[in-house]
Amino acid sequence: MNGFLPLGKMRLKILQAGDEMLRAKARELSPAEILAEETERLIEHMKNTMRDAPGVGLAAPQVGVPVQLVVVEDREEYHKKLTPAQLAERERRPVPFHVLINPRIVARDQSTAEFFEGCLSLVGYVAIVPRSASITVEFSNERAEPVRLEARGWYARILQHEMDHLSGVLYTDRMHSRTLSTIENMERFWKDFKAHEVRTRLA
Ligand code: ZN
Repeated sequence: MNGFLPLGKMRLKILQAGDEMLRAKARELSPAEILAEETERLIEHMKNTMRDAPGVGLAAPQVGVPVQLVVVEDREEYHKKLTPAQLAERERRPVPFHVLINPRIVARDQSTAEFFEGCLSLVGYVAIVPRSASITVEFSNERAEPVRLEARGWYARILQHEMDHLSGVLYTDRMHSRTLSTIENMERFWKDFKAHEVRTRLA
């Protein structure tokens, strides 16, 4: 971990695809490390970096720190581009800021959902990615307390995406590769189509 991160609002550099760090396995944090001031500072900087991007999740390896730590937040203001029907279909609801350390998926729904998703480490692109519709995760919070929760819909998608980063996996490893699109073209051509329609058209 970087021991020289200053206090205060700071935006970290987000690594882009092709950087070896994004393909490495992140290591677990010990309870003592979770409670260290350095980790508190990393969380604060990751929160500012995620909000500044803006994004709904950020994993420590994306900012060059190879540890199992993820921050998540889905703010209502990010939902303005979506219609109520699109929000309902995605089961997308606001998620307050929180931290997941050493997370594990302990159960997952067999049914999957397919939507376009993007990544702060693959700027400008999106693709249709199948994800489990719901998952149960166990992790430590920033106070080193154990937490178990069930996430559904978009929240479950965010968690699966961010936890993949901790194993060196990017959405491009899981996407329907023919649906890869620039964000501009997704908004221009595909935003009103269902995932299966997009897949058929681009097949
Ligand atoms: Zn990502």
